[in-house]
This record gives sequence, C-alpha cells and structure tokens, in this order.
Amino acid sequence: MRKVPLGNTSLIVSQLCFGALPMGPLQRDMSPADGARVIRYALEQGVNFIDTAQVYGTYEHIRLAKEGWGREITIATKSYAETYHEMEKAIEEALTALDVDVLGIVHLHAARVGPELFDLRSGALRCLVDYKKRGLIKAVGVATHTVATVRAAALRDEIDVIFPLINVRGQGIRGGSRDEMAAAIAEAHSRGKGLYAMKVYAGGNLLHDRREALGYVLGLAGMEVAAIGMVDEREVDMNLRLLKGEDVDEQSPHYVPIASKKLMISRFCKGCGSCLEACPNGALSLENGKAQVDGELCILCGYCNPVCPEFAIRMV
Ligand code: SF4
Ligand code: SF4
Repeated sequence: MRKVPLGNTSLIVSQLCFGALPMGPLQRDMSPADGARVIRYALEQGVNFIDTAQVYGTYEHIRLAKEGWGREITIATKSYAETYHEMEKAIEEALTALDVDVLGIVHLHAARVGPELFDLRSGALRCLVDYKKRGLIKAVGVATHTVATVRAAALRDEIDVIFPLINVRGQGIRGGSRDEMAAAIAEAHSRGKGLYAMKVYAGGNLLHDRREALGYVLGLAGMEVAAIGMVDEREVDMNLRLLKGEDVDEQSPHYVPIASKKLMISRFCKGCGSCLEACPNGALSLENGKAQVDGELCILCGYCNPVCPEFAIRMV
C-alpha cells in the first residue's frame, strides 16, 4: 500500500484512510468487536491511517483493532469543542479511550461553519496548538465542507492538515462549486498543508461508479489520500483494488454490491427542528410541521439521527 507524506507534517500515511463513521452508532452501529475485526483487517493490508471523531462513537472499535498491533498508526479525530477547556477534555478523552500516548491529528470539527470558526473557536484552536507543543498531538487540523474555510485554513500557520469534503459530483460542498473546492485544495497544498479527502463517494451516492469517484479525487492537485468509510472486509479489498487502478465491475469476484441507504423520517416527527440545526448540508426542512429530507442534498452522514428526541430519523 502506497504511503505518502501529509503536507509539511511528519506523518506518512496510507493512501486509503479508514473512515470509522459508518460502523458507529450514527450509522451501522456495529459492536466494537465486529468493527475492530474490519479495521484490523485493513491494518493487515497496509492501511495505517484511521479517521474518526468524538461524535462517531468508535474509539472502542479502534482501540480493540490496534491491540497488540505494535506498528505505528495515525489516528485522526475531531471535536466540536469551542473553548480551551472543552477541547482539552476532548483530547484527554481520545487519548484515554483510544489508549494512545499521542494523537496523529486533531481537527476542529467544523462541517458547515465558515472561516469565522477560527475566531468563534479560538480557545479550542489554542488548546490544539498547546497540545501539539507538548507532543501529545502531531498535527492540528480542520474538517470542513466549506470552500471558504479551506481557503482560510490554508493561510493559517496553526493548521497543518485540512480534511475537506470533495467528490466528483460536488455533493455536499458548501459555499462554492466542486471546481472552486478543488482550486482551494490545490492552493492549500501549495502552502504546505496536508490534505485528505472526505465523502469521496458522497456518503454512498456515488457507489455505482466508485472507480470514477476515487479517480477524480486522487487526480486532484494536492490530493493523494482518500478517507473511505468501511464496514466489511470485502469493502477494504475492493477499495484497495480500485486504488491500484483495477476496474472492479459487477462481474469481478471482488465487487461488493451496493447497499443503498436512504434517510427516513417517521410519523413520530414532532417538527421540533433540532435535526435542521444538526444537518451540515441543509438537506432538511420543515413542511406542515414535519421534517422532510431532500435526497439530492443528503450525504447520508447520519449527524441528524442522534439529535432527534423522538427517535424519528432512521437510515434504512
Ligand atoms: S429532530 Fe426529530 S422530531 Fe424534531 S423535526 Fe427532526 S425528525 Fe422531527
Ligand atoms: S439529512 Fe441527516 S444524514 Fe442527510 S446530510 Fe443532513 S444530517 Fe446528514
């Protein structure tokens, strides 16, 4: 598995980053033991980079997967923390729950927030910088869906790594087009930032042509690493083959059928609007007192699910 340096950081990571979101409670809700088995399989195939977040609920899956592994793994996590104290708690939680001495990357988990996030969350950012100075974090990052945030992050000395949303359809990108995001990525790369791609398959919407989707992202200037959510060993194999340039079509024994997903709002919706606030992509609206999802905008991230007090949101 090809490994590449992540910008000006000291990190050397596999081109395939294991995305841990889908196996957690926001989506598939696999047990830690089942999730760990898939992650461990990916490690055995040469993957050394895992992406998670405080809200994904997958620290235990990762901790179990790396038990007795003995080789270096870069773990990236993210937190919505705003203040210094909140970020400190988030970092300490990650260090303990993952059972590591050092975290590879800790991102400001920003999604749809614009560049104002660097002022609004200056305390959290200061904390990240302090922890990096203390040697407990190797790189400080920002995870974002927003073009302007990538542009702003490229200019900030504190930010080492940017995790932007990018895919061939441009689905989920905020505040600009696919090509504008690609240009912002190239600019960030030229300034020494490390980059890896989020939502390469648009949360599952581009699974019908994975080769094109992956090829587009890894063909972008400055983008050599793709984070892909996986819940099955066969998906690991298929993505590794795609990375090697193989065409894994439906006739191939390595083809993994598309498990199509859809977001459903049940009749128990009371129209409180909490899910609208949680959606990073403006895919939800209220109509006649009930939440409605726009399938074109929904990137199936699952962030809306846990905020519903009525348990009315399901990914099926
Ligand atoms: S959070 Fe739940 S109850 Fe509130 S609007 Fe959304 S789906 Fe309906
Ligand atoms: S509707 Fe829910 S699953 Fe879809 S993009 Fe918004 S938060 Fe994510």
